[in-house]
Amino acid sequence: MTVRSNRAAIRLADYYMGRDREYRAELTPELRANARDIVKRVNRLLKRAGMARKVSSGWRPAALNATVPGAARGSKHISCLAIDLEDRDGALDAWCMANLPVLEELGLWLEHPKATRGWCHLQTRPPGSGNRVFEP
Ligand SMILES: [Zn+2]
Repeated sequence: MTVRSNRAAIRLADYYMGRDREYRAELTPELRANARDIVKRVNRLLKRAGMARKVSSGWRPAALNATVPGAARGSKHISCLAIDLEDRDGALDAWCMANLPVLEELGLWLEHPKATRGWCHLQTRPPGSGNRVFEP
């Protein structure tokens, strides 16, 4: 029963989105460890939810993040502590809201679905408020 056998699982390469080549110098060992960690936790979540999802936004090098409309300057995507998953029907967001103890168990925090229509933002560090579900 390993995630490796799950063909729908998110891979590290999906998280890097090819940016690990162009921005190699920014991708420190700490960030690589963070990336492996979030991919592992999110795959566990998707397995529990029984859903497959694609990465709509993974790692954002700082220079790139600065060009993303509406992206926070201190975005956790920069440090490989956040991920956005495609969620057009909102089913994953809804599942997360209905299963907050699972997020707690896996060490994940969710941006409130009303602020993320069409995608689901998860992160591996608490926001300033410490709330499991937070407003941006
Ligand atoms: Zn995000």
